[in-house]
Amino acid sequence: MQLSYQPYTLQFKHPFGVSSNTRKETPSVFIKLEAGGKTGYGEACLPAYLGETVDGTIAFFEKARPLLQAISLPFSTADILNATDGLSAGNNAAKAAIDIALHDLAGKMSNKPFYETANIGKSLPMSTSFTIGIDSPDKIAQKISEAADFPVLKIKAGTPDDKALITLIRQFTAKPLYVDVNQGWTNKHMVLDMSHWMHEQDVILLEQPMPAAMKEEMAWVTAQSPVPTIADESVKRLKDLEHLNGTFAGVNIKLMKCTGLHEALKMIAYCRENHLKVLLGCMAESSCATSAMAQLMKLADYIDLDAPQLYNNDPFSGISYKHGKVWLNDLPGIGAEPLAGQLF
Ligand code: MG
Repeated sequence: MQLSYQPYTLQFKHPFGVSSNTRKETPSVFIKLEAGGKTGYGEACLPAYLGETVDGTIAFFEKARPLLQAISLPFSTADILNATDGLSAGNNAAKAAIDIALHDLAGKMSNKPFYETANIGKSLPMSTSFTIGIDSPDKIAQKISEAADFPVLKIKAGTPDDKALITLIRQFTAKPLYVDVNQGWTNKHMVLDMSHWMHEQDVILLEQPMPAAMKEEMAWVTAQSPVPTIADESVKRLKDLEHLNGTFAGVNIKLMKCTGLHEALKMIAYCRENHLKVLLGCMAESSCATSAMAQLMKLADYIDLDAPQLYNNDPFSGISYKHGKVWLNDLPGIGAEPLAGQLF
């Protein structure tokens, strides 16, 4: 099996989805794995807050290269992923890139979409949320009007006055909201009061309101919260999920956190057994990794897969967006292909 990779900078559209005070681009490293005349593609998306770098990701791929080169056909995806996982303690996005490319390659060899080879089935088009970043009232109004197609909006809260923010948003739209606090609140009584207030404001999901370390307080909130609480920063991989113990009502699963589709499926199975809600999310991936995640849509309660909509130089085609919904195609593998002349 041959490995190649290429760093690439994804550029955000402006002003759509971009606030004046946030980043303008995201680095990714794309990989391709070739075997048996077929090519599988994968992506490591590396927003700065994740702590994984382009250099660190490339170093991981070089560490994995001898292992991948030694693979002959037919291969066991699970065996390869267990071996690459053992190469380092972190590098979750780099591991996800290899996972995605291997599943893409295996799907192309059997000429089936991943949702078929994994016995998930093809999901009907599913509504995704669209993220509205914190900004001036004028820009928020503009973003909400530009997101007219999307039936659910995701609000990044954790501002000095989140009631004022949501009240402002309610002047422009009556759509249901996901609210992501990014660990920004620290008083459990305030969080529960906010949950009751937000429930009246048609907030349907409350993501990571408190710091990951505040487990007891979070469990106290979750037990009484009228809005389902969803873990993001508290849960990266399956082992974190197994230690949740009632802290949250559900989890935001992201390929770049959990090392890829192989582990995401295990996490979803755990959630089902333990009556936890499943939100399929993303960091800031292109259509490559987002199309891979969308293969699992049929297993999700909610999806937040808007990232490819945010870029003006997405080097892949894959899932499509219509009427605020994510539509799968029938292509083999992850259902994404690089656009001619963009990569490799
Ligand atoms: Mg989040």
